[in-house]
Amino acid sequence: MRSITVLRIGHRIDRDQRISTHVALTARAFGANLVIFTGDEDSKLLNSINKVVEKWGGVFKSYYSHSWREVINSAKSRGDYVVHLTMYGINLPDVLEEIKENFKQKDLLLVIGGAKVPSEVYSLADINVAITNQPHSEVAALAVFLRELLGNSIYNLSFPNAKIFIQPSKFCKKIKRA
Ligand code: SAM
Repeated sequence: MRSITVLRIGHRIDRDQRISTHVALTARAFGANLVIFTGDEDSKLLNSINKVVEKWGGVFKSYYSHSWREVINSAKSRGDYVVHLTMYGINLPDVLEEIKENFKQKDLLLVIGGAKVPSEVYSLADINVAITNQPHSEVAALAVFLRELLGNSIYNLSFPNAKIFIQPSKFCKKIKRA
């Protein structure tokens, strides 16, 4: 399968610890391979994501870049397809087939914002996509987008080398350790 990188613009060390962690957890659980943060460099954030990967498995990576422009431009020069999630975009159902067609041939860079998204991002992206034209959250937008793109395969992803697994249960918490 093609790879999916999430670029999260504008992390703020004093305000975004929790939501940026949730961006990474959601990206990982829903089938992305990598998250790149720009904004404030935050080793605590990257460490906490690495700890989750160590415990719950998989090969998900996270790192910091000083420049969102550089991340987008290098993705474009590799021929990746750049999708920017924004409430100002075209609603996902109207462009989902087009995105799926591109994803058959190209890796995906999925750009999500933080507090303020520079206007250049809108023109650098191959497509600006809305998950409704109402304001909500980068975590919600990311989750809905990945579910729509990858379908029910998100429920069967494999996370090799996990130290801990959930045994799904209707009635209680069941955990198995490797
Ligand atoms: N006001 C900011 C701006 O300059 O666009 C957006 C802030 S919003 C809390 C953070 C991010 O959530 C956005 O940059 C976008 O990626 C995502 N987001 C929020 N609502 C969305 C929607 N309806 N559709 C797609 N993405 C959305």
